[in-house]
Amino acid sequence: MDHDELQPATRVVALGRAPREPGEQVGAPLTLTSTYHADGPVNYARGGNPTWSAFEEALGSLEGGDALVFASGMAAIAAALSLVPHGGRVVVPTAAYNGTLVTLADRAEAGDVVVTHVEITDTEGVVAALDGAAMLWIESPTNPLLDVADVSALTQAARERGVLVVADNTFATPLLQQPLEWGVDVVVHSVTKYLSGHSDLILGAAVTGSTDSGRALHERIRRHRQLHGAIAGPMETWLALRGLRTLSVRLERASANASELASRLGAHPGVAKVRYPGFGAMLAIDVAGDAAAAERVAAATQVWTHSTSLGGVESQIERRRRQPGEPEAVPEELLRLSVGIEDVEDLWRDLDRALGSI
Ligand SMILES: *Cc1c(COP(=O)(O)O)cnc(C)c1O
Repeated sequence: MDHDELQPATRVVALGRAPREPGEQVGAPLTLTSTYHADGPVNYARGGNPTWSAFEEALGSLEGGDALVFASGMAAIAAALSLVPHGGRVVVPTAAYNGTLVTLADRAEAGDVVVTHVEITDTEGVVAALDGAAMLWIESPTNPLLDVADVSALTQAARERGVLVVADNTFATPLLQQPLEWGVDVVVHSVTKYLSGHSDLILGAAVTGSTDSGRALHERIRRHRQLHGAIAGPMETWLALRGLRTLSVRLERASANASELASRLGAHPGVAKVRYPGFGAMLAIDVAGDAAAAERVAAATQVWTHSTSLGGVESQIERRRRQPGEPEAVPEELLRLSVGIEDVEDLWRDLDRALGSI
């Protein structure tokens, strides 16, 4: 059966399994070994593992490319950033995932790369920054401002200038957008979030396209993984694949909840601004008050969990500026909401009551 003919909701269930032969296991393999008998395709497990292959087959199919699993989203991000030559310039959103921004700031301080910050929604401004750049780093929607970029136009402009494009697709997931289709060179994920979906592991991935240049990038990233050793644990990978099986239903429910909450929050007197891109399950609110008021709201919730991270089945709330390294472009009173799959009325009542503590 040609999996390309299947819808994504079927692919998350069907891919990454053994061939359908009598006696074959239906579940994915969980292979715990550091080495293999000699003369096979892989001889040492820093280079490959059947559990990785199962997860990579499923994620690669969803993104429309070839996936490589990593120990964390940051490990995948570090591998993608390793494609920037010494002294190269990286164009990155002013407000993006703070691990990415802090890594780039450290490397810039060491004189390794040059960083240009841009407003990712300002397509002309980003294009103007691309001349002579080595890499364009895209998040869309961004973490945590939920800004949406014109990824297709930006990617086209970057390719015309020979600039590599990386997109962090953690917030949207491949079920809502597949950046490789727009010509993006490398997609990175924090698998920790929606793809695994249960807040019980840390994992990452990088996905490249199936063109010749995509395959060459894949080989460089794979080599980086093998030599730097930021490899995924088989157990985490197996759990992530198990979580991926329900991605479609989780995201459907969480997105419906987010959409409903975004419209109700827009009319709430305790909320000065709602940031919601109109899709996905992430939103942010600027509370009508200061940082302390926002902290009181987060602390007062009982159904939502007051915690960092996102993309789990449970709804999470956090004032982002409490994190060191969060850019100043993020308002002090901004709360990021990762909407889960609970009953929307329970989520609303809890938030409504917590907003009363402003
Ligand atoms: C969490 C996150 C990361 C980092 O991933 P880890 O799995 O925590 O290393 C990268 N990008 C985005 C958008 C994230 O939300």
